[in-house]
Amino acid sequence: MRVGTVKEIKNHEYRVGMTPESARELVQHGHEVWVQSGAGLGIGAKDSDYQRAGAKLIETAAEIFAECEMVVKVKEPQSIERAMLREGQILFTYLHLAPDPEQTKDLVDSKATCIAYETVTDASGGLPLLKPMSQVAGRMAIQAGATALEKAHGGRGILLGGVPGVLPGNVCVIGGGVVGFNAAQMAAGLGADVTILDRNPEVLEKLGYYFEARAKTRFANVSNVADSVANADLVIGAVLIPGAAAPKLVTREMLGTMKPGAVLVDVAIDQGGCFETSHATTHADPTYIVDGIVHYCVANMPGAVARTSTYALNNVTLPHMLRMADKGWKDALRSDPHLAAGLNVWNGRVTYKAVADDLGYAY
Ligand code: NAD
Repeated sequence: MRVGTVKEIKNHEYRVGMTPESARELVQHGHEVWVQSGAGLGIGAKDSDYQRAGAKLIETAAEIFAECEMVVKVKEPQSIERAMLREGQILFTYLHLAPDPEQTKDLVDSKATCIAYETVTDASGGLPLLKPMSQVAGRMAIQAGATALEKAHGGRGILLGGVPGVLPGNVCVIGGGVVGFNAAQMAAGLGADVTILDRNPEVLEKLGYYFEARAKTRFANVSNVADSVANADLVIGAVLIPGAAAPKLVTREMLGTMKPGAVLVDVAIDQGGCFETSHATTHADPTYIVDGIVHYCVANMPGAVARTSTYALNNVTLPHMLRMADKGWKDALRSDPHLAAGLNVWNGRVTYKAVADDLGYAY
């Protein structure tokens, strides 16, 4: 199969659908790989790296969309890219169609086979192609929070790990899923005093086993959340109720109980945020202050560490790319119901029920 990847054109997107290492494996499986010149520059992968991997460099995205049977990307196709999609062509990327009727219509009209990373499942009911981005965001939340705690950024002037003779910072993580676990790992690794709150007893039990004395767990009732937030130097918002807006667990009133210069990092901002005072910010201007509390609410945190994020994403997308290229997409999806769950649009139809229901398409 001829598989292509293009330079991402969404604003401030530096990731790329295929690393040179992934290109090499596709080539080793006997496939042809076309890469748009400059596609990897945002992650430090040069054209020559792709060439050494056996890929062919192509000048324009138009040639790749015109000639490749499968196009692998990161972000949803922008309107200029959607116009280039062809009937029967496989598009493998993040799509997030439910809130995007315009994109959905264009994909339906293209009659392409559109497989969305975010709806591919695994045997334990998780979303393995979303997981790496939550891992990145969780780990980055501590880095971002630690920076915001510095005086120059409006913070309390606290070093999370402390130093010998000075107590470490207090970190409160609300939501102990993928983001929360990874945030807690980083904070505990720095030597911070970490408390993780969740409402699911099984999650709390697993966290307890894993962290032992390196982090405390606490049931996330309203009183416990209020108490932990009031004592924290850094609060990480990491809750998720699948398919719903994030619950507002930290109210504006609660900010008044916090220490001046404490920091809130709302990773759940992409679902509306779990702090009442959150609004989305960008990497260019990531923080703002409300009632003396520093807020960091960047909705696309993994974009800032494009190289790590691209490699983490390729670790989970490459096996699917290989299977679809080796067997053809139909056989690959027939033999793997988890990959089949990624099929969102096919042959002019919406094939993912939640998207069809939300946007009024027949299913
Ligand atoms: P997850 O499903 O793995 O974990 C969510 C956890 O929240 C679960 O353990 C759940 O029990 C817990 N929870 C639900 N309601 C709660 C409540 N009221 N109080 C305490 N805990 C509660 O989800 P995840 O992958 O960790 O993602 C968390 C959020 O981070 C999501 O909104 C996700 O979209 C977002 N995210 C943001 C970025 C970014 O760049 N900002 C990147 C990746 C993920």
